[in-house]
Amino acid sequence: MSEQQSALFPTYARFPITLVKGEGSRLWDDKGNEYLDFASGLAVTNLGHVPEQVKNKLVEQLGELWHVSNLFHIPNQEKLAQLLVQNSCADAVFFCNSGAEANEAAIKLARRYNAKVLGKQRYEIITFHTSFHGRTLATLTATGQDKVKEGFHPLPEGFVYAPYNDADALKSFVTDKTCAIMLELVQGEGGVNPADPAFVQEVVRLCKEHDLLLIIDEIQTGMGRTGKLFAYEHYGIEPDIFTLAKGLASGFPIGAMLGKAKLREAFSAGSHGSTFGGTPIATAAGIATVETMVQDKVPERAAEMGDYFFAELKAKLSGNPLVKQIRGRGLLIGIECTLPASELVPAIHEAGLLVTAAGPNVIRLLPNLLVTREDADKGIALIASVLAQKAAASVQ
Ligand SMILES: *Cc1c(COP(=O)(O)O)cnc(C)c1O
Repeated sequence: MSEQQSALFPTYARFPITLVKGEGSRLWDDKGNEYLDFASGLAVTNLGHVPEQVKNKLVEQLGELWHVSNLFHIPNQEKLAQLLVQNSCADAVFFCNSGAEANEAAIKLARRYNAKVLGKQRYEIITFHTSFHGRTLATLTATGQDKVKEGFHPLPEGFVYAPYNDADALKSFVTDKTCAIMLELVQGEGGVNPADPAFVQEVVRLCKEHDLLLIIDEIQTGMGRTGKLFAYEHYGIEPDIFTLAKGLASGFPIGAMLGKAKLREAFSAGSHGSTFGGTPIATAAGIATVETMVQDKVPERAAEMGDYFFAELKAKLSGNPLVKQIRGRGLLIGIECTLPASELVPAIHEAGLLVTAAGPNVIRLLPNLLVTREDADKGIALIASVLAQKAAASVQ
């Protein structure tokens, strides 16, 4: 359907593909074409499309109860929170409906903890260049990219932007107004940029020294994506706050903000809320997702498959002059190219593999975490052949 006929706001530059059915690593379009999916709905369908355990739990819940509001106790919400707390460094969870809302909650909690618990007039949050934290006014302001801010001024105060992976520069950004540092441990949208361990240690050191809250945005890196249930585990650190959304309920909308016990009192009754946050249905999908991930050791699988992908991609793409660097962690993989991703990604789609771009020149691979070696080989071969054709065409 052309944009003229569409009744939707044209906020998305959509690919000319209409997907109507999915199963595991496969998607089919409205013409019956089959695709291998290395996009996973932007790191959402981490267990593949329509995973059996989650589907069964959802169908069961759909017959019981959909919505009651947070004026009442919701057993599924409590259970999902317990599961997350048992499997992370956090002690308490707030549920919402998206990543931006989870980060919005984190920003509000950081400010309120400083104001109400510490009694300090501090509200500034340090974030990083090329970060991505969402599209609400506060979270687009937190985002270290100008393109998401154009036309939306005036923006909320209280955000400063430091260079990513620059441990030496960081301390000069801390002032007596700073209350928190917020970062992604692999920048997703910004180009698949992993955080250096030395940089992360400096972030943690500064947080300790100045009593700042460490907020990790795990919306893309969480739920097994990087080969651990949460990416902070790779660094041996414990954030005060971290946020989840994308992979948390296998495609059912949900967001979560998780924090340490000392933060509980800052979010007292009436301080924050959401009508839909943590409905019986959304949290049913979340419970089935987390239980499956823990029982089936899905993050470990992602780590192994990630190693396989990196080895194979390096082997199959080495020598291609268009490929500058292959980077990432686990199954969050970026192939930085010398050509714009906007030219390469559609060519890969035409070959039957769905991938996305991240930043101007990076092809981002986000296979589901249960992807088989056979499908990994197939997808990597398709990428190698498209990039070989593009390289041959560009020297002519
Ligand atoms: C996708 C994403 C968000 C925003 O999530 P929405 O659900 O689109 O609001 C925030 N932070 C990171 C790191 C993301 O990848």
